[in-house]
Amino acid sequence: MNPATVLIPRMPACPALERTRSTRAEFSNQDCQVFEDLVVANEQYVAGYQLAGLPAKAARQLAVVTCIDSRIEPLSMLGLVPGDAKILRNAGGRVTDDVLRSLIIASNLLSVTRIAVIHHTLCAMVATEAEISSKIAEHAGSQPTGWAWHAIDEPDAALRADVDAIRECPLIDADVVGWRYDIDTGRLLPVVD
Ligand SMILES: [Zn+2]
Repeated sequence: MNPATVLIPRMPACPALERTRSTRAEFSNQDCQVFEDLVVANEQYVAGYQLAGLPAKAARQLAVVTCIDSRIEPLSMLGLVPGDAKILRNAGGRVTDDVLRSLIIASNLLSVTRIAVIHHTLCAMVATEAEISSKIAEHAGSQPTGWAWHAIDEPDAALRADVDAIRECPLIDADVVGWRYDIDTGRLLPVVD
């Protein structure tokens, strides 16, 4: 028996998948059951899959650290294709300890010699720690304690601090730049050379 037959349950086609990109913003849980549309879409993806055999090392020797913002397309905005770069994302595109952990792995084991830290305009993380805590408390109904949100008080200073954190890491040997991505135009603006 084909393993795929066992692992991927057959599901009815989701009408929402037929919608165009322009109407995708109207998606909601009412359109499909919560995850079934994703599994159906994956079946279509598998049918045209062409990335088998791609090396794990980054072909362009590049790592990109950027925000989770859903308006950012890290590959296409840089002219990259799958296999070219390691993409690290978190809220704000901040260089946290865990980002450094991954960059150490990427630098030493996965051929990365260039790192771009890309923050962006209209980022929800441009706020104070207290403001973010307050918004989370309002939504969650309880006060968050013990968290560092890595809020961005001063955008240029935060980007410079993130670039410096990578440059100062003795286990990372790479050229590092800091850029800001303009959500309205798609343009990258150099901030830290
Ligand atoms: Zn953001």
